[in-house]
Amino acid sequence: MTEDGGVPLMGTDGGPAFMSASGRWSINVTVHGIGQPARRLDDGEDQIWISVEQFEALLDAAVGRPDVTVTFDDGNLSDLEIGLPRLMDRGLKARFYIPAGLLGEPGRLDAWGVRELHRAGMVIGSHGWAHRDWRSLDWGPGGATEVEEEMVQARRHLEQLTGSDVTEVAVPFGSYDRHVVRSLRRTGVTRMYTSDGGWARTGAWLQARTSIRADDGPDWPQRVMVDRPGLGRRSRDRIAAVAKRFRG
Ligand SMILES: [Zn+2]
Repeated sequence: MTEDGGVPLMGTDGGPAFMSASGRWSINVTVHGIGQPARRLDDGEDQIWISVEQFEALLDAAVGRPDVTVTFDDGNLSDLEIGLPRLMDRGLKARFYIPAGLLGEPGRLDAWGVRELHRAGMVIGSHGWAHRDWRSLDWGPGGATEVEEEMVQARRHLEQLTGSDVTEVAVPFGSYDRHVVRSLRRTGVTRMYTSDGGWARTGAWLQARTSIRADDGPDWPQRVMVDRPGLGRRSRDRIAAVAKRFRG
C-alpha cells in the first residue's frame, strides 16, 4: 500500500506508476527555453530559461518513466536545436505547445521546424495565437475575433502545417478561468495543460504541470518526479485548480 492507500503498479514499460482510489497519477513537466537565447527575452522570461545541463538531467530522469510527460511551451528555436536531438538520443517523445502567430519570428520555430518535430513523432499542440493572457481577452461579443484567433485559428494553422489533428492546448501563462475552460471544451480540445504544479490524474482532461526554472538545482528531477507529495498536498493542488476553473 502507498501512503494514500493505493497499490503500486508497474508502468507499461516497467517503470513505476501508482494507483490510488481515483486512478493513476502522472507528472507533467514544462520546458520553455534552453541554452543561449536566440532572441531578446521578455521581462522575467530569463527565470524560466534553463541550461543544457538542467535539461539533460531532466530528460535522464524521465527515461523509463511512462508516468512522466515532458512538454515544451512558446515555440522557441531551442525546442528543435537542443530539445529534439536529446529527446531522440534517449528514445523519448514529448509534446510541443506552439503559439502559431509567432512562427518564424527571430529565435522561434518556423513552419519547417514544426514539421520536423512532427515528423520525428512529437505531439504538436496549441499555445494560442499571439501568446496573449487568455484571462484578459474580451469574452463579450466585442472580442469574438481575438477569441476565435486564439482558440480556433491557432489550432487550424498548426493542423495545416502538420497535416494532423491538433487537439491539445497548453494555456499561455497558465492563466485560465471559466471562460477559457468553456471555450476550450466547446471547440473540441481533448486536453488542457495548465501550470498549476503537482501531480495530475492520468488521462484527465485538465492536466497540471510543473515548470523547470533557471534557479532549480540538480535535485529538481528527484523533488518533482520522484518524491510524491502526500495526499493533503495533492488535495490542496486540486482544490486550487478547481477554484481557477470556475472563476469568472
Ligand atoms: Zn507560454
